[in-house]
Amino acid sequence: MIRISQDKSFEANLINRGSRISSICLKETIIGSDYDNSFESLPETAKRIIDTFLSFYLIGDDPSSYKDSTIKIDFPIDSVSMDWFRSLYDFRKIPFPKIQCELENFKPLSKSTSDKKVRLLAFSGGKDSSYLAINENVLPVHLIGLNNQSQERELKAVQQLSKLIQNDPIFVQIENNSTIQGDTGYQVRDGLIYVVIAAIGLRFGTSEIISGSYIEDDWYCESELGISGINSMLDIKNFQSYVKVIEHMSEEEVIKSLIKLNPQILSITSSCVISEPDFSSFRRLYNTEFDDPELLPNSCGLCGKCAQINLSRMLFDSTIIMTDFESRQKLVSYYVSRYVKSNPFKSLVEYDLLRKATIKYNCPLP
Ligand SMILES: [Zn+2]
Repeated sequence: MIRISQDKSFEANLINRGSRISSICLKETIIGSDYDNSFESLPETAKRIIDTFLSFYLIGDDPSSYKDSTIKIDFPIDSVSMDWFRSLYDFRKIPFPKIQCELENFKPLSKSTSDKKVRLLAFSGGKDSSYLAINENVLPVHLIGLNNQSQERELKAVQQLSKLIQNDPIFVQIENNSTIQGDTGYQVRDGLIYVVIAAIGLRFGTSEIISGSYIEDDWYCESELGISGINSMLDIKNFQSYVKVIEHMSEEEVIKSLIKLNPQILSITSSCVISEPDFSSFRRLYNTEFDDPELLPNSCGLCGKCAQINLSRMLFDSTIIMTDFESRQKLVSYYVSRYVKSNPFKSLVEYDLLRKATIKYNCPLP
């Protein structure tokens, strides 16, 4: 029997035949040097929505392994949240898991009397949120430990970038003992980020949660459908928060703009999601293959995200040290193939970057 169980709010444990398989728990909010327990004092509706997302995050790790089982959730879930998850699974064309739980009617939050308004940004320390943190008037929020495979690199990037742009983030400490591999888990993760930030927004009255532009290919939480679903969920529960999509530039233009602003910024950002032990071994592997003094400190050199950033730098950053043409040609061919391999859906969208790189360095498109 598979169960999602909790001893207290902001915690979900996935239990299979009596053993705990994985868990995730929101610990506390950190504002400046103060630890804040305002999560504990959140209204029941806000607690419940976060608990629901934490549970589906654990289930989303590997939905196929639960397809023949019933997952029992030992706390009630409201029908509005359940509909959002059904819509996510429909979008992914994955059968919705068999969930056994009590369905309850949602309770709207009482309307805030505060007329304060704030713009909040989920700040991961990657290139896109760094771009928004620099160019938009926002209060950044970083969820420490949500991406538990790369949390130290991300936190260091967020701290260094915040210092550079002189904008102190709110931190939310998370203890994540799951090893999310499945992309449904990652997509629930993005929804979880929105609802946690919406809960933080409750202290301000009204909040806008800033997001980058829509991606329509396969990423539900960055699609128009997914974001309008989140907004209806927040609206119907009276959060007075909504996700606002900023139609900012393409990924290539974001990288170009950061390089133009200050080439050092990309050395600080952390977009690589490879786990810490793999990160070190990927770098060793990369260094045996290439004599490249320019590999960024937070790049593994192998994943699609790192390939994209390093490829863009070879095209647009005039400050990087020029090695001989043949070595650079070899490096570009390598990055192009890594990028296409990691982004089968995106490679066509980002074709321009690959086309420019392969023309400049005279290498064939894979
Ligand atoms: Zn990487």
